[in-house]
Amino acid sequence: MPDIKYKRIILKVSGEALAGEKGFGINPPVIKQIAEQIKSIHELGVEIAIVCGGGNIWRGETGAEMGMDRAQADYMGMMATVMNGLALQDGLEQLHVPTRVQTSIEMRQVAEPYIRRRAIRHLEKGRVVIFAGGTGNPYFSTDTTSVLRAAEIEADVILMAKNNVDGVYSADPKKDPNAKKYDELSQLDIINKNLGVMDSTASSLSMDNNIPLIVFNLNKPENIKRVIQGENIGTIIKG
Ligand code: UDP
Repeated sequence: MPDIKYKRIILKVSGEALAGEKGFGINPPVIKQIAEQIKSIHELGVEIAIVCGGGNIWRGETGAEMGMDRAQADYMGMMATVMNGLALQDGLEQLHVPTRVQTSIEMRQVAEPYIRRRAIRHLEKGRVVIFAGGTGNPYFSTDTTSVLRAAEIEADVILMAKNNVDGVYSADPKKDPNAKKYDELSQLDIINKNLGVMDSTASSLSMDNNIPLIVFNLNKPENIKRVIQGENIGTIIKG
């Protein structure tokens, strides 16, 4: 078995990553590609928990900007993450990867409720666990969910899968030709330099709990596997 650097991981898949080029909704061929990458590390024996975003379908902030009640709009965003979770489960099961979806808001007909010990047991048994529904609370994000769940299940690392971005840059590389990619940063750099990797709640939770984070490009084949095997292809953010 090839060496793996991380045994238990949280993989954060943003809603955007599931949308593909259209930038909206769920794109099954894209789901298939992501599922194939996940399968490749599952075969290495990595324990994988996935947190999915929902921004490809709905964001609470957008609803609030249009005059909706923020909490109500956020609950809609949490529902969106459940749709993405079910789509990912479908993609993985089509590749015969055993999965369980757990939601932070109960909907027992479609998924298990989130139960920490049960999630850990699934991971130990080799099932991929998909955490949907965010934290279950409005005013939070799925980035915060990733950090929270990583702390709860004692994950070795959070892999922040990005769409066509190789890591963290000093400026937006699409707009600024002098933008420099960082190979390594501290949690404090992220906050002080305002690098926009995660929202401030997620950043401070991750700093307080000292959970390493790797930002990398999901769109290149084999990238998840390379990260798991310890290659420094993105940006690693440590304590
Ligand atoms: N959301 C929330 N609480 C949470 C997680 C998510 O209210 O704990 C809502 C929020 O409205 C957010 C939406 O769900 O805009 C989608 O999540 P997010 O923006 O984190 O998804 P991503 O950007 O990763 O696709």
